[in-house]
Amino acid sequence: MGCTLSELSMCKSVYTKQTQPQRPLKLHGNTEPTGHKQRRLYTGSAKELNGGETMAFGLVWRSARSLVARQQSRRSICASASPSGKNEPGFGLLFDIDGVLVRGRTPIPAAKKAFHKLVDSNGQFIVPVVFVTNAGNCLRQKKADQLSHILGVPISQDQVMMSHSPLRMFRKYHEKCVLVSGQGPVLDIAKYLGFTNVISIDMVRESFPLLDMVDHNRRPKVPVTVILFGEPIRWETNLQLIIDVLLTGGNLSNIYKSSHSSHLPLLACNMDLMWMAEAPAPRFGHGTFMVCLENIYKKITGRELKYEALVGKPSELTYHYAEYLIRTQAAERGWRSPITSLYAVGDNLMTDIYGANLYNRYLKERLASKSSKAMQQALTGTGVAVSEEEDADNDWVSELASPSATSCKSILVCTGVYNPHTELLQDSGQCIKETVFHGHRDFRFEPALIEPGNIVPDVHAAVDLIFKMEQFRTAV
Ligand SMILES: [Mg+2]
Repeated sequence: MGCTLSELSMCKSVYTKQTQPQRPLKLHGNTEPTGHKQRRLYTGSAKELNGGETMAFGLVWRSARSLVARQQSRRSICASASPSGKNEPGFGLLFDIDGVLVRGRTPIPAAKKAFHKLVDSNGQFIVPVVFVTNAGNCLRQKKADQLSHILGVPISQDQVMMSHSPLRMFRKYHEKCVLVSGQGPVLDIAKYLGFTNVISIDMVRESFPLLDMVDHNRRPKVPVTVILFGEPIRWETNLQLIIDVLLTGGNLSNIYKSSHSSHLPLLACNMDLMWMAEAPAPRFGHGTFMVCLENIYKKITGRELKYEALVGKPSELTYHYAEYLIRTQAAERGWRSPITSLYAVGDNLMTDIYGANLYNRYLKERLASKSSKAMQQALTGTGVAVSEEEDADNDWVSELASPSATSCKSILVCTGVYNPHTELLQDSGQCIKETVFHGHRDFRFEPALIEPGNIVPDVHAAVDLIFKMEQFRTAV
């Protein structure tokens, strides 16, 4: 019996009938394991796989070590080969938070150990680190403060990327009247991102019952753009009012204009269907709220709800931004070695692994395109340097400049949504044939994109593995 992507999905608690091709899961980059081998690997670690520190990941770890040994023997680049001759990192780390560092408000013990390895005796990071979370219900500074407390190392807000952070680049909407949906300080978040004319669902709800259409000063603002920051507290209220706004073109005193083929621009952050808190099973995420909104809109109008932008993992834009933060951090520290490798550590196949692999694909294609252009120019003798002009037509890409990274490797941990222990509980006779795609509707299911580069027990093991792969201060 082979271990397939179907089996991976079986660890996600909810399943529907949808036949998918069976593909072997790659453990630690080793393409050899059959399903039998993988099952034995996990069987050996059945105790405390989810959230525990005492994981018996012996076989998996030995597999990782043999891979690392092979990779190390092949590698010619290491940290000490930097232009300055110092032990500078040529790589950056992107950490998911929920399910990797915390479960709800409870820290995952391995996180503290991992982060002690990432700072020097002065508490300064020895490699550039960015926290890329799809959470969006607070400001970056608050998340940085929480992380500092949990991890015992100082974290600055510049190291934190929330799902909504890329909206800072959507300047064409910053002056427009936007309606925001979510929970927490949504108005403050919107203002922090650059939006100057913001109204909340609560403001709409409170304004309309008392609407005085005679006194123009008391008329509520008419939203022309809708931003979904995250799952709200009162789903029914937000669903109702967002549908109202979309179907009235923002003028809530009008009746629905169902004949219109388009609706107001809609931007959404965080597409996670589920996330991992303290509860044993995953919780509904903002992606579930979006499924509700999309289906209600389609049921009423017969048309698909369309998004102007989808940000947060796994969108490419989010990784562009994260990579930009990593480069900025390295420059601020005076590290001159280019950051050529990124490692993305996460617990969610559809979010962290899909996103990292998607960005890795972009980086590879970009590299190939540049090489082929350089080759062409060399052959034609035009002498024009290969530049980032090919990206210039894309506002946000030019905003972030061009990535220095040439790869983004995904590392899956077993302390959150992905839980191989759950896999063992499934009936192996039937779990192979079906899978379910938990990604967003607008992101195509592609088996290669949810195949993790490596699987490790927890974030501490992830950091050890990365250091070994990079031959970076492994004695720390
Ligand atoms: Mg997570």
